[in-house]
Amino acid sequence: MKKLCILLALSALFLFSSCSGNAPEKLPGPVGNDESEKSDEYIRNSEKAAEIMKKITESGNEFPIGSDMFNSQNAFVIGNRLYIFLLDRGLFEVNPTTGKFEPICRDPLCQHKSEEGCPMTEFYRAVVTDGENVFALHMDYISKIDPVEGKLIPMCRWKHSPNAMCGVIACDGGYVYFAACASDTTNEIYRMPVEGGEPEQLSHLNEHIVNFTVSNGYILWTNSVWTLKCAPVDFSEVTVLAEKMTTMTSGNGLFFCNCVDEDPRVSRIYEVDVSAQKMKVVAENVGYTRAFLCDGKLYYHKDNFQETKQLFCYHADTGETTSTTLGPDIIRFKTGKFSFDSDTVIFHDDVDDLRVYGVCGDYLLVFMYDAPIDPEYAYELSRYFFLKKDGTEMAEIFFEDFRGNA
Ligand SMILES: [Zn+2]
Repeated sequence: MKKLCILLALSALFLFSSCSGNAPEKLPGPVGNDESEKSDEYIRNSEKAAEIMKKITESGNEFPIGSDMFNSQNAFVIGNRLYIFLLDRGLFEVNPTTGKFEPICRDPLCQHKSEEGCPMTEFYRAVVTDGENVFALHMDYISKIDPVEGKLIPMCRWKHSPNAMCGVIACDGGYVYFAACASDTTNEIYRMPVEGGEPEQLSHLNEHIVNFTVSNGYILWTNSVWTLKCAPVDFSEVTVLAEKMTTMTSGNGLFFCNCVDEDPRVSRIYEVDVSAQKMKVVAENVGYTRAFLCDGKLYYHKDNFQETKQLFCYHADTGETTSTTLGPDIIRFKTGKFSFDSDTVIFHDDVDDLRVYGVCGDYLLVFMYDAPIDPEYAYELSRYFFLKKDGTEMAEIFFEDFRGNA
């Protein structure tokens, strides 16, 4: 992923260079935008994010736990602290006073602000929570993380094979679920109690599971040829549901999957009834969207998001779909020339990926992906915001990078 990010950043750098004939140079500031100054201030003011966090907690709204959709990009709350897992960077806490990301490591002597990194910000593949505990999936082991103490406790290890990897970890009913390599090309589902203990092998499938999700004692998974299957977690009855599908997310017994067809025009999101082994379409033309599930509501955007700026919400209890159109204040910063520290980072003209992955009172926690041209900022590809549900307000949560810059 890191290599890909750098590659993307490098190709963007190349494109820019070929236009201007020069290496990137400092620009005077935002352009093509009447209220650009306001926009810039709007973006760079992390105190606004802190204000929103305060508003949410004071209104008595708790941040609910995120769905496991973002195995590799997860956000959740434990004990009123908001944690965000950043792929390639590790687990961070959002400081409620400053609205900035902070490492969860508490070791005063640790090098986590340098490129050397630290064990608490090492490259986990995925992080998940059951509301009390945090578990991380590493290449060949899983660990329990204590985010308050800033400690990591290895739980179990297996023999790693690059051809039998699965980047997913899940929690359900007091167990943590993971897929451990069983041979050079196959893996199997295991679970162990959240408090630790002996890992228990559940599946005997002899295939390569690439994606899975667990809820209410059922598991939905996809193998390496994109066959979607489901079973009770004891794997007593395995059902093949569909081809060319992959799992999206699950929670409270609701399961969702989507197409992996090469043509995004046929893309759909399905709700899966795992006990009746039935599927129904709940959204079409979603492209390669990801979806976030919370309290029976599935949030997603469609492949024409760039034009419509619409976020959708499927209500599983009624079968209805509602939408939010992002207001002009939000659209304003789609055209991106944001100054960044003393240097300048140029963002693509349009935000084409804005994912919900947290719902807190009137606000959504959203993730935006954009590509800076400077490889040095490859880490800054991901940006995190609070977005008011009616689309009128947005505030960025800031990073402190290795150099201590916000
Ligand atoms: Zn550290």
